[in-house]
Amino acid sequence: MPADSTPCSPSVPARRIGVIGGGQLARMMLGPAIELGLAVEVLATAPDESAAQGAAAVRIGRHDDPAAVRDLAEAADVLTFDHEHVPAEILESILDEGIAAVRPGPAALVHAQDKLRMRERLSAAGHPCPRWWRAASPQEVDAALAAETSGRLVAKTPRGGYDGHGVRVISSSADVADWWELHPELLLEELVPFARELSAQVARRSGGESAAYPVVQSTQRDGVCFEVVAPAPGLDAADQERIQQLALHIAEDLDVTGMLAVELFETEDGEILINELAMRPHNTGHWSMDAAVTGQFEQHLRAVADLPLGSTAPVAPHAVMVNLLGGQESDLARGMRAAMEQDGGLKVHLYGKDVRPGRKVGHVCVAGEDLEDLRARAHRAERLINGGGDAATETTEGASA
Ligand code: ADP
Repeated sequence: MPADSTPCSPSVPARRIGVIGGGQLARMMLGPAIELGLAVEVLATAPDESAAQGAAAVRIGRHDDPAAVRDLAEAADVLTFDHEHVPAEILESILDEGIAAVRPGPAALVHAQDKLRMRERLSAAGHPCPRWWRAASPQEVDAALAAETSGRLVAKTPRGGYDGHGVRVISSSADVADWWELHPELLLEELVPFARELSAQVARRSGGESAAYPVVQSTQRDGVCFEVVAPAPGLDAADQERIQQLALHIAEDLDVTGMLAVELFETEDGEILINELAMRPHNTGHWSMDAAVTGQFEQHLRAVADLPLGSTAPVAPHAVMVNLLGGQESDLARGMRAAMEQDGGLKVHLYGKDVRPGRKVGHVCVAGEDLEDLRARAHRAERLINGGGDAATETTEGASA
């Protein structure tokens, strides 16, 4: 039985989509769902969560409460996700009882839920990964560190991390002493001296039809995605193709349904290493909403509803997306108005979230011909909306480890 096997035949598109999680990714599915005539119901933890504010149908409940997920499934043809933290047992029981399709299925999803499982599987398939170790004790952490000439490693909690929470550069087992209580094992990785980070996104339907987006460059600030440039500057056509093929292979190998993001490191000499996987729309794909024929949220819905995939072609030579990370200004409306007055080509997306320092509360995107001009415009808009004024200089952020 396929991992996402479903009571609805593959030739009958699903119409009722249950989305588990009420964050901004679920919220950004709502517009395309309306356009496609799909009924989306969101499982959110509170009525004021980002997607719950806009969805026509909302259930309040937790993603790890079997009854809440089951209730959502009973009202849906297919379940999909705003995040990857739903326990596999809950999803397996929904599949076993034939209540709804689950896309991506739990057998694929585990590789986005558990970084150790992801490393094991990708390494076994021969896909390029950083050197990595599994550590089940402080002694094993120290042994791995002792073997590293730099004396440093990246330690990760296998589960539950996001936006850099659960990732630390360490030089001693003492640096992860607080993690053992919740995590019996940790993932250790070499500290990759990457030149930049890339992201390759593909969409795949359960029958195997797939589509690749242009590979993009992403820059993090304090472990959080800050800027995305599409396509990745300076990546030639052969490398674009090679990386897209890698992502398509992974989607096929793992039997992913929906959007897959493969986060990558590129080293100075052009080596590509896989950082991690996400099986849902991803921050590095937000540019596609405004600057590709088919945005990632529409594409995810098409894939999980088993509709033909749309073109991934960009509609302009370059696009720049900059995240609005919460700053001092709690009211974004004034800055948004100012940014819109300055730049009629600017697209602004606000997530309806309370502003807290560093929190993703929205993003801006511009697309066009002149990459440096686009970057300047996107960063200026970000500063204006975040209440930082209209300084002419562009922010350049280094990638953080
Ligand atoms: P999360 O799941 O929280 O997004 P990631 O595993 O993607 O965590 O790591 C967050 C960031 O930390 C990455 O985008 C990258 O900048 C840095 N990072 C992660 N792993 C490594 C590594 N092995 N070497 C160097 N930097 C790393």
